[in-house]
Amino acid sequence: MFQAQTGMLLWSLETSTLAALLAVLWLHSSSKKHHLFFACGFAAVGAGSALVAQRGYLADFWTITVGNTLALSAFGFWLAGLLRLEQRKIEGWIFIPPLLWLAFMFLPAVYDSMLARVLVYHGCAAVGYFTIAGVVLTSKEPVSTTRKIFAVALVVHALIGPLTAALIIPYDSLAGQTLPLTAPVAYSAAFSFVVLMMIALKMFMEDNERRLHRLSITDHLTGVLNRRGLMEAYSEIRKAPEHRSSQLLLALFDIDHFKKINDRHGHQCGDEVLVQFCDLVNRIVGKKGIFVRMGGEEFAYLLPHDDLNAALRVVDGVRVYFARLSTEGREESFTSTVSIGIYSAPIAEAELDLMLKMADRALYAAKSAGRNRTVVNDGIANVVLPADDRGEDPHDNNADRQVAALNRIAAMGSN
Ligand code: GH3
Ligand code: MG
Ligand code: MG
Repeated sequence: MFQAQTGMLLWSLETSTLAALLAVLWLHSSSKKHHLFFACGFAAVGAGSALVAQRGYLADFWTITVGNTLALSAFGFWLAGLLRLEQRKIEGWIFIPPLLWLAFMFLPAVYDSMLARVLVYHGCAAVGYFTIAGVVLTSKEPVSTTRKIFAVALVVHALIGPLTAALIIPYDSLAGQTLPLTAPVAYSAAFSFVVLMMIALKMFMEDNERRLHRLSITDHLTGVLNRRGLMEAYSEIRKAPEHRSSQLLLALFDIDHFKKINDRHGHQCGDEVLVQFCDLVNRIVGKKGIFVRMGGEEFAYLLPHDDLNAALRVVDGVRVYFARLSTEGREESFTSTVSIGIYSAPIAEAELDLMLKMADRALYAAKSAGRNRTVVNDGIANVVLPADDRGEDPHDNNADRQVAALNRIAAMGSN
């Protein structure tokens, strides 16, 4: 014969074990506060259920009011854990389920009726499960299939409780049973809870992997992608058959005399220049193409395009605007410049290693030509892009070669 009290105590033991496991995780790395919140949630269910199981041994106030409030306060802790994990704001509404229960305790019609209490309890819990589903679906994380399945499972679980209770309690009351929590209610709730936990675990593991992966391809100082991010972005571009652009451009940036900036204004100021440079590029290129920090003061930009001239204007714009950007130095503010090397190839035959080599040659040529220049390598020669901002005649030296090369570049763009 199924004993409701034994069931409650087993349930209490199970949730307390989960609480202990999560507490160990939190002790292992105490900065992960969400583990503590989740542990508190399970501890609250454990303690609450243990109190509810004491019905008949303890005063009703402890078993009915305190026990159920404690059990329902788990939703507050679980919601706090979820919100904390996703760096969202923790607000008072997380404790609606236990507060709702406390409000109902003032109604004698509920307090005095076992059926009403069980239904109200399940109703409050359903509000909690629905709220968790809402939080899961409005996450900043991508709403993956696992997330959607978890939300659906939460809604199903929220409904199983009140439905089974509504069906079984009247039947049990007729049969003269004093404790309405019968085996089918307990089994179905326990089974669906285990399923919920499994889906939640899968969701957390997927999120964690995604976060770690994002971290592994992000530069910690500037927040832009790192060299590994470039490799991945390049394979994505090459793999995507739906990619319509015909050409792939690679630009390499190297800030000029960066060592001097460090020497004159300090390493921290150098860092500030790097961050400013990345902010500027992000503002100029927006979501177009892939911008990465290759290391030190070197950056790269990968852009699928159909119009080389337009692409060159965007990249050279970075050089022009960067030269105007001022940074607060040790004693005075100062400006910096950047040299740029560019290589563009038809997307179908663009090999990253070769592109890096060619763009690097162009960058070297930009440095040799006096820095603060954009140089394009067209496979035959390095061509300095004419620029208004330097106040020079672009065809001053090697005029014929420059013009011929610029024409070749224009022709490449219109292929
Ligand atoms: P050039 O115009 O020829 O590019 O000269 P440069 O001084 O910019 O180039 P060089 O490669 O000689 O010096 C790069 C310097 O960048 C050396 C290194 O100390 C500094 N550096 C590398 N990484 C960082 C960083 O993360 N922060 C700061 N502040 N400096 C860095
Ligand atoms: Mg360098
Ligand atoms: Mg440099």
